[in-house]
Amino acid sequence: MCADRERNDSHDGRDRTVLYELLEGNAAHVEELPAGYFDPVRDEQHPSVVSICCSDSRVPQEGMWHTERPGTVFTPSNIGNQVWDDHEGEKIVDGSLLYPIANTGTEAVAVVGHTGCGAVTAAYQVATGSDLPAPTGIGKWVELLVPVIEEGLESDLIDADAPAPTVVNQLVEYNVDVQASFLRESSDVPEEIAVYGFVYDFHGVYGNVAGRAYLVNDNGVTEPDEIADNVPEEFEAAVCSLLY
Ligand SMILES: [Zn+2]
Repeated sequence: MCADRERNDSHDGRDRTVLYELLEGNAAHVEELPAGYFDPVRDEQHPSVVSICCSDSRVPQEGMWHTERPGTVFTPSNIGNQVWDDHEGEKIVDGSLLYPIANTGTEAVAVVGHTGCGAVTAAYQVATGSDLPAPTGIGKWVELLVPVIEEGLESDLIDADAPAPTVVNQLVEYNVDVQASFLRESSDVPEEIAVYGFVYDFHGVYGNVAGRAYLVNDNGVTEPDEIADNVPEEFEAAVCSLLY
């Protein structure tokens, strides 16, 4: 049953501001939807890409890909844009990402990290001596990132002696590469699925264009010159790397 009268009093004494913002936001969403918006996808979905992104509230998946139609991008997100989950001590490809690949004809994966990532920062702090953050539900996901960070810090690609924010941004890109490689090497992901790695920049780390998703991994290719050679000229400005 739908309420048809205004209710101002909370039944539990809580401030209702957030709830009313949600209701107001959805009302605006309903108002702005074009006629027939869901008609092509009401009974099925065939998103061309699954975009796996950090859950950070500053990294809007549908916004960054300028998605205007429903059913075009499958959008899982988690702490640190991780493509895996731990299953009985073994890393497996996470189901929220595997589902569209297995069931909806999805052709490509975009792994999207972002500048100033709190998850990568936390894993970097653990790798350099801090305790895992509590509670376990958070600590588990940071812990899964720690080996990636340790491997990155030991590699020649990262300047481990640079100031922490610089190291973290290099590790963000390194993590995107590791996640992308994990997918490409997994037997759960068919070979015909393309895997692209991006870093979403809103700190001016890669360039001075806020909101640009820099292509750092083109299905296994990480050298920017080589990536740039294989995209139209108009997209060359979106190819950049902190590592190569
Ligand atoms: Zn993040």
